[in-house]
Amino acid sequence: MKKYTTLLFLAVTITMIFAPVLPANAKDKIIIPENMEELDLSNRLEVFFDQDGLTEEQILQKSYEFVPLSNTNPSGDISGTIYWLKMDLTNASVDSRKLLLEIKKPHLSSVTLYTLKDDRLVEEDTIGYRYPFDIRNYKHRNLVFTLHLQPKASTAHFLKIETDSFFQAPVSLWEPIAFSEANYMNQSILGIFYGIMFAMIIYNTFLFFSLKEKSYLYYILFVSGFTMMQAIWDGVAFQFVWGNFPWWALRSNSFFIIWSSLFALLFAKYFLQLKINAPVLNKIVTIFNTLCALCLVLPFFLKIGTMTMISTVMATIFVLFLIAIAIKVRLRTREAKFYLSAWALLFIGVLLNILAAFKIVPLTNLTLFAPKVGAVVEVLVLSLGLADKIKRMRKEKEHETKKYYAQTLLQNAFKQMSVMDELEPLSKQGITCLMEITHFEKGFYLSKDGNKWRVISSVNLPAELEKFYVEQYVSIQDGCSPGFNILDDSTLTVPISCQSHTGRFVIWSPLEEADLSLMESFLPAFIEQFTALIVQKDDFQSLKSSAMHDHLTKMLNRRYFLEKATELYIESEPASLLLIDIDHFKRINDTYGHLIGDQAIVFAGNLIKKVLMGLGIVGRFGGEEFIVFLEKTNQDHALEWADLLLEAFRREGLHLDSGASIYLTVSIGFYSSHPFSLLTIDEMIQLADEQLYRAKRNGRNQVAVC
Ligand code: GH3
Ligand code: MG
Ligand code: MG
Repeated sequence: MKKYTTLLFLAVTITMIFAPVLPANAKDKIIIPENMEELDLSNRLEVFFDQDGLTEEQILQKSYEFVPLSNTNPSGDISGTIYWLKMDLTNASVDSRKLLLEIKKPHLSSVTLYTLKDDRLVEEDTIGYRYPFDIRNYKHRNLVFTLHLQPKASTAHFLKIETDSFFQAPVSLWEPIAFSEANYMNQSILGIFYGIMFAMIIYNTFLFFSLKEKSYLYYILFVSGFTMMQAIWDGVAFQFVWGNFPWWALRSNSFFIIWSSLFALLFAKYFLQLKINAPVLNKIVTIFNTLCALCLVLPFFLKIGTMTMISTVMATIFVLFLIAIAIKVRLRTREAKFYLSAWALLFIGVLLNILAAFKIVPLTNLTLFAPKVGAVVEVLVLSLGLADKIKRMRKEKEHETKKYYAQTLLQNAFKQMSVMDELEPLSKQGITCLMEITHFEKGFYLSKDGNKWRVISSVNLPAELEKFYVEQYVSIQDGCSPGFNILDDSTLTVPISCQSHTGRFVIWSPLEEADLSLMESFLPAFIEQFTALIVQKDDFQSLKSSAMHDHLTKMLNRRYFLEKATELYIESEPASLLLIDIDHFKRINDTYGHLIGDQAIVFAGNLIKKVLMGLGIVGRFGGEEFIVFLEKTNQDHALEWADLLLEAFRREGLHLDSGASIYLTVSIGFYSSHPFSLLTIDEMIQLADEQLYRAKRNGRNQVAVC
């Protein structure tokens, strides 16, 4: 921004240096050459400042008091002064000539052309914003008079100018055809300018209605006001819009200056988020904006001159705010870059024009229309900046929504998973959850068992392809980094690992329609929670198992045996219940000690399980007593199994480290229920126990059944 401030300083300095040395040959008679196209009279006019409202006769008497216009500096003056400009035109040609006199600033309230004839000022024409456009003889946006010059003669012409705005009078004399040509060119450039501005307004209005974004509204209101302001300065508004409403034409300039300042600042407030980026400045801008809004009604009540003064002050404050915003926000944000470049481009345009006016740079069409080019570029850059900002905001919002959706999905999925204590449904739910977030189509979960990977669960994976995919991904999998991997944009692998488990999700899609934008923020949480679930599941399972099993023999303990047997018993008739007790076990303990006694109990339990080959359920009933439940087994079959058990004990012994062997015998009592017996498990145990007692009494190493 420092750069721009320096440039501004430079421009002002140059203006001050060059202004007094501009050519001032006004006292000469102006000789109009034969082949003239345009003759710039601005620096060759004489001026008289009439503060008293003199008559034409009185002005003629003051003829000698006229001073060269270029020696005075009336521009910027908005006093109630009437300005009289005088020019002595000499027609060098032998023919009479019809020429056009153009004042290139259309905003003057009233301009009257007088010709000096027989020592009298004869009024030729009066035009300006104070009179309807239609009365103009020459229908042009600028103020144009027709001059008739006699051959080889000098005529004095006077212009009486009244203005409610700043006095500026760049006057040119034109050869009519040259004027038409130049006019055609200017009209075309203005056409392009207003066309673009209008298109920008329409385009952004559509955007506003579809996006409902406040900044767009401020942008449209600012650009409309700014364009209107240009149209007033160009005379286009008067020519085409309110030519028949002079009352409004005189007030419109102040109105639109305040309007543009108001909405330019409102736009800046929202576009640059001043509330966050410059809170103090934001407050001051808000106060100024309120003032601007109130001032918008003033042009309808106050005098035009007063209003011009107020709007000038407002515009100056607006420029100061722009500088303050630039200093405060600098180029920190992307929006600030757009915003400041937009205004800087307009500024450069205006500066080029000023430099051209002082002939520091050549006056070409480019420098002449530089402010217009600057304005168009400014409006375009602001619109681009706005679109850019909205696009980023939408993306952010979309991302947030997606993130929220993913989080909810994750929460729900984990809620469901938290009650699962099996790896298969747990991992299946994990696959579904990952697929929903990524929009991937297929997936499976692999678990490492020793050195082998095997599929635990899969979704949308045809069984016949399972092997192929598993092999493919297992081979890739070894080269994967420890974190999650996105392979070739269409495959996601997510590792899960804890002390007791190593697994990996593989999710993929043949079509590359996946949405992996959330992965970075979402997957670490997923991995952490899923791993915690696996640990929890393993802990739970080992807890459950230790609660169910006898810790010496690892067989079902009495409580869980009864629970399971009761469950099975409901649907199984006939059923048999066997009670097996080791004979004379006390002796084992006494002979070999309790540790060997323990080994003997484990040996007996294992032998029973081995003989039954997974049939029925086996539990440790207590001490050296075991219990067996055989579903759908009648008495005959149960007897066969019992004999097999006796036989096995007779045959197999426990071989000790010392080399000795212990051969145990068991006594078995059992009871077989038949359909409709209506006995409970407890009653069956009771009956079997009675038989066991009988077997013991009858000499042990035998089966007893009632
Ligand atoms: P029988 O059944 O043939 O009448 O004679 P027994 O000597 O086996 O008598 P009983 O069944 O009444 O005694 C069981 C003994 O088993 C009592 C106890 O010291 C022993 N015992 C019970 N539980 C354990 C155990 O967990 N380890 C060891 N070493 N001994 C146990
Ligand atoms: Mg015993
Ligand atoms: Mg016993």
